[in-house]
Amino acid sequence: MVVPLFAQETFAGLASESIPIDREKQYQTMAIDWMQQYLRIDTTNPPGNEGKAVAFLKSIFDRENIENQEFEYRPGRGNIWARVPATVANPKRPLILLSHMDVVTSDASQWKYPPFSATINNGVMYGRGAQDMKSEGLAQLMVMVMLKREKVALDRDIIFLATADEEVDDSGTDWMIANRRELLENAEFLITEGGENPLVGGKVKYVGLDVAEKSPFWLHVVATGKPGHGSRPSPDSAPNRLIRALYRIQNYQPEIKVIPVMQEFMRDLAPLQPELLQPKFRDIRRAMKEPAFREMISQDDSLNFLFRDSIAITMLSGSEQTNVIPAQAWANLDVRLLPGEDPTKFLETIRKVVADPNVTVTPMKDNFEVPNASPIHTDLYRSIEEVANHYFPGAPVVPRLSGGYTENQRFRQLGVVSYGFSPFAATEEEGSTEHANNERIRVAEVERGPKVLYDVVVNLAGAK
Ligand SMILES: [Zn+2]
Repeated sequence: MVVPLFAQETFAGLASESIPIDREKQYQTMAIDWMQQYLRIDTTNPPGNEGKAVAFLKSIFDRENIENQEFEYRPGRGNIWARVPATVANPKRPLILLSHMDVVTSDASQWKYPPFSATINNGVMYGRGAQDMKSEGLAQLMVMVMLKREKVALDRDIIFLATADEEVDDSGTDWMIANRRELLENAEFLITEGGENPLVGGKVKYVGLDVAEKSPFWLHVVATGKPGHGSRPSPDSAPNRLIRALYRIQNYQPEIKVIPVMQEFMRDLAPLQPELLQPKFRDIRRAMKEPAFREMISQDDSLNFLFRDSIAITMLSGSEQTNVIPAQAWANLDVRLLPGEDPTKFLETIRKVVADPNVTVTPMKDNFEVPNASPIHTDLYRSIEEVANHYFPGAPVVPRLSGGYTENQRFRQLGVVSYGFSPFAATEEEGSTEHANNERIRVAEVERGPKVLYDVVVNLAGAK
């Protein structure tokens, strides 16, 4: 007997109601089993060893008769690509489900359970990669298998891509784009890590979708001056010049800029604010013209970086010895630029702020990844909104600007609309285990997450 999963509820456009409940249960069991197997593969990067993860994923795709290709670009390291093809005559452009297989290092002595044991205790699964990002990779794998087994009619190809080396050098994605670009560049949409669905008091507060990223533009500041003995100080010494330069940088505030994503973000968050602030959040461009409000945003570390290029002084160095005045002193600045910014102009400005011929400011890297953003009025965005509405009623879907780097940046340059979206809800505590000790995810999320993502995909790509 076929029992619709959501028998009592109707929500327009979601084709997934057709999965019978017994198979739904099977998928949940499969998800837990595969998640444990995946977490037990040690892909700590460095060195990565993603080849073992490729073999694991490939064995599943082969067994399920899903078209796939593996690319071993270095011994023991590689990517895997798979596809469930469209079933209509003139398909739309593909959707890519992207994940990375490598994980960051872990110190087993600091963990409750070994980081590659995938131990389940009290409904919680522990393992390096449980948040970042084997969980989402698993959900993407499940979606491929579910699409195939349920014989879903699709109006576009669904492409699965798992890459190596995201956490260190990004050589996996670099290799794919350099060598097998034709397998990816025609895509219209891409979903990968990023985004967050914070669980507060048992309810998802909002569904955050990363649609834009700032880009690192790290700067190296070097001051030179007369060296000498520490017993004879001079105001023109390198350390003194450096300190004065950094003081000027510290007091320099890049101007506030409201990019379109932030306008939407603030508007969507308005209903969650105290009444007095709501109109300001709804029209942030106008509110930013009020000095008091601008000051309030500037003082709020959780908001300030979203509205301006940011500068953090992070590394400092002078003499190796207390009694020696060095000829050189240096500092590094972690600078992050908003989408649309010009690094050359920014550098010019900082040099003007420093205004000292004995202090140089230079970029630490030759290549600058241009910060970019994806539009939000898209079919994928709407699809996520509809599905989020079902699973997390009352939680608005909000577009976010991310301060860090993800592979979205690379794919946006190919013309692919790329979002950071998580199909899992996590408490702040669970989320904070990413890259930390005792990384974990609740088993209930492992069971549900694949279905959330499946609904998004079917809602977008199910042939009407
Ligand atoms: Zn990651």
